[in-house]
Amino acid sequence: MVRAENVHKSFGSLEVLKGIDLVVRPGEVCCVLGPSGSGKSTFLRCINHLEKINAGRIFVDGDLIGYRERGGKLHELKEKEVAAQRRAIGMVFQRFNLFPHMTVLQNVMEAPCRVKRENKNEVRDRAAALLDRVGLADKIDGYPSQLSGGQQQRVAIARALAMRPKLMLFDEPTSALDPELVGEVLDVMKDLARDGMTMVVVTHEIGFAREVGDSLIFMDGGVVVEQGPPREVIGNPQQERTQAFLSKVL
Ligand code: ATP
Ligand code: MG
Repeated sequence: MVRAENVHKSFGSLEVLKGIDLVVRPGEVCCVLGPSGSGKSTFLRCINHLEKINAGRIFVDGDLIGYRERGGKLHELKEKEVAAQRRAIGMVFQRFNLFPHMTVLQNVMEAPCRVKRENKNEVRDRAAALLDRVGLADKIDGYPSQLSGGQQQRVAIARALAMRPKLMLFDEPTSALDPELVGEVLDVMKDLARDGMTMVVVTHEIGFAREVGDSLIFMDGGVVVEQGPPREVIGNPQQERTQAFLSKVL
């Protein structure tokens, strides 16, 4: 579902990603761990072309993201074509960024109605079903400001799912939450994983990575230092940098 090959990304003279390789198979959950500034968010943003890469290739479901290859050369796609690729990729951030002036239901309906111009009644039914699935059936007419952080993040997940993505990217979805609200969001993500969604999850939740992850990569300084089954990497890290990082977060 995701294949990244030798991805490089620089901001000016700062090289943030120095050749990242990654394979995530359909239905798998890949967790990404690493210290602050190691390039985790940048890498996620490259996957849906919010950042342009300087070298390498990223494929999502067989589609080369952001470019077309012709005669061995890469040509950048038009904004419209990039937008079409992005629609297949849901993204959930640390900050929920819900539309404050819209109800919970309207927040979830917005993108399918406006971007995909889907039938409003169908979208409403789907949105209500998704909100039920994330445990918010009773909040659909409320406004974001009336919800807790955990509830808002669950709306953000439902909103991403409303576009029927093939792939979900999560960038530290629980790190802005009070500790007692983390579990309810992780439960929704677990449910999603169990249902077969392919996910790339940047997280410091080691328990989640161990329990739900099919694979784990540990990044530091823009490279993948270590990767493997979460239990192995977490339980028996081979690299010094991985050991040092885990000893701080465990
Ligand atoms: P954190 O755990 O703190 O979220 P991260 O692993 O997600 O860290 P990134 O946000 O990917 O790290 O940042 C990696 C490096 O790239 C940092 O040095 C950051 O300052 C730099 N960086 C990120 N975005 C930009 C940008 N738009 N312009 C310039 N530098 C950037
Ligand atoms: Mg980050």
